[in-house]
Amino acid sequence: MNAKLAAPRNGYIDVHTHLFKGDLPQEEEMDLSLRLATAAGVALQIELGNLRLGTPTFARPDPEGIAKVNNHTIKAVQRHPDRFVGFCYLNPANPVSASLEEMERCIVEGPLRGLKFEISVNATSPLMDPIFERARELGIPVLHHAWYNMEGNQEHESTAADVAHLARRHPEVTIVMAHLGGARERGVQDIADCPNVLVDTSGSYPEAGHVEYAVRRLGARRVVYGSDWPCRDYATQVGRILGADLKPEERDLVLRGNAARVLGLEGVHA
Ligand SMILES: [Zn+2]
Repeated sequence: MNAKLAAPRNGYIDVHTHLFKGDLPQEEEMDLSLRLATAAGVALQIELGNLRLGTPTFARPDPEGIAKVNNHTIKAVQRHPDRFVGFCYLNPANPVSASLEEMERCIVEGPLRGLKFEISVNATSPLMDPIFERARELGIPVLHHAWYNMEGNQEHESTAADVAHLARRHPEVTIVMAHLGGARERGVQDIADCPNVLVDTSGSYPEAGHVEYAVRRLGARRVVYGSDWPCRDYATQVGRILGADLKPEERDLVLRGNAARVLGLEGVHA
């Protein structure tokens, strides 16, 4: 992990983006992402990886697939260090030594600054624990998927209650739980008594009232803007926050201050 990053002077920070446009060469994909981000007022974004590069399956990539995803992220960060903050993607079902070595390679010796978990292993699994113990030692944040699916979750997919279980086991690790739009009010209630968990605002199209509910229930310091671009567009996802009935200081925390604090950016007192 390199020296501390400075906060962008202006603009929003997006905690949840991917470079998923596999049909484009990476240079063009990055240019498209950054052009649309700039147009929506986003100055800095967390790049969580093109998870589709993982093999043999999207849900449970082997160590080689994990390395492919993370190398793609590292390339993006090296090309645009002022715009992308990269997180290291892991599949905890792989041998724990492989995950710890990947953290060493990508974070301790490389430029990545956090961890990303999708649906490889449920958050309640003890397989998560040695990785989280290392995250605590390194003082890095984690972004973890969560959703309540109407038709039931996938085999290892976590709900917000599962993420809360993980957060209670590792109270010193800051977790950004993805998808307010998927975890919804029930998910906000699940994490309410876990002060180390923030919720990102991504997931589904914006619906009036969700962001306001999360801010009232958790406090503005625990709600953070994320788009999940290119699954959703930056502009509609920024609009979800701009259109919410929030005080100006609450909106600033959601769009910028909280992410800066979680990432430990210099020059931000949030
Ligand atoms: Zn995502």
